[in-house]
Amino acid sequence: MSFSKYLLIIFAILLIFFIAVYFRLSGALYGSPPSDHFDGKRFFGEESDHSFADMVKWLWEMETVDWPEWIDDPPQPKPVEYVNNEELKITYINHATALIQTDSLNILTDPIWSDYAGPFSWAGTPRVRAPGVKFEDLPKIDIILISHDHYDHLDLPTLKKLALKFQPIILAGLGMNGILKSENIENVVELDWWQEYTVDPGDVKFTFVPARHSSGRNPFGNNRTLWGGYVIEGSASRIYYAGDTAYGQFLHSIAERYNSFRLTILPVGSYEARWFMRNQHMNPDDAVLAHQLLNSKQSIGIHFGTFVEHPEQTINAHEQDLATALNKYGIPESDFWILGFGAGRFVR
Ligand SMILES: [Zn+2]
Repeated sequence: MSFSKYLLIIFAILLIFFIAVYFRLSGALYGSPPSDHFDGKRFFGEESDHSFADMVKWLWEMETVDWPEWIDDPPQPKPVEYVNNEELKITYINHATALIQTDSLNILTDPIWSDYAGPFSWAGTPRVRAPGVKFEDLPKIDIILISHDHYDHLDLPTLKKLALKFQPIILAGLGMNGILKSENIENVVELDWWQEYTVDPGDVKFTFVPARHSSGRNPFGNNRTLWGGYVIEGSASRIYYAGDTAYGQFLHSIAERYNSFRLTILPVGSYEARWFMRNQHMNPDDAVLAHQLLNSKQSIGIHFGTFVEHPEQTINAHEQDLATALNKYGIPESDFWILGFGAGRFVR
């Protein structure tokens, strides 16, 4: 049986499972007056959803390429406890998980240490490599940024462990507190697009910014919580974490508000088949355009090579495609990095 047929069958089983819990999960997760991106029940933004027919077409026609079953990455030095005030260090851990160290803060994005991305701890999309930093080697985590509620970004088992060990402040989009509270995860601050949260001491400002994506943890729960990215402004740096997003008009709004970034963290994976993925995920060409548009001094690519989600591209396709895009737009490779899993680098 081909991989796509296998996926269709898994999809059908999941559908039945979720019908069983439909009535529990179908209520609105966020109950506030409508806005220009919330209709009272669901959030919306730039076009990102697919029709059910497109979904079936995508799965049926899917031509997968083989990914290695497991990869052992070279070990990397443990992250430092904290960096000095004016310094900025980024460590790539896996998927969309990165450790940002700056302005006396340790910030973790979309942390996932689970073996599978999905609703179960024993099945779902399996990982093909260990996280680049062992959980026990993490320095103290002060802030966690959650971009949206898809399983590969909102990993509740990992969040519970982090909350227990470090009591961090967790920033997330509107509607997420309901999911996190049900798991007894506290210190959650829900943010609307363009809403700010300032951490003191240090006066570091976090702004939740739009993205072109969607949300949902079951087939009936689409877009009940808000998705987005973050702009971090401290005395040392201005940083943009894009989360999980396609290229879109929203990037122009971000560029208009902020005139430059010391670092932008951009997704560069899971972009094939392009006709299907183009309104959910950037490809490396889009990411390089975003790097230029946002006037970024330095960018790093994330969101690749960790979970076998929809392998319609080889595991390292993003590397060649990024090199091609950088060459096309005349940007030096030293301005847009792909770091090894667990590798950290000081940003100039
Ligand atoms: Zn997503």
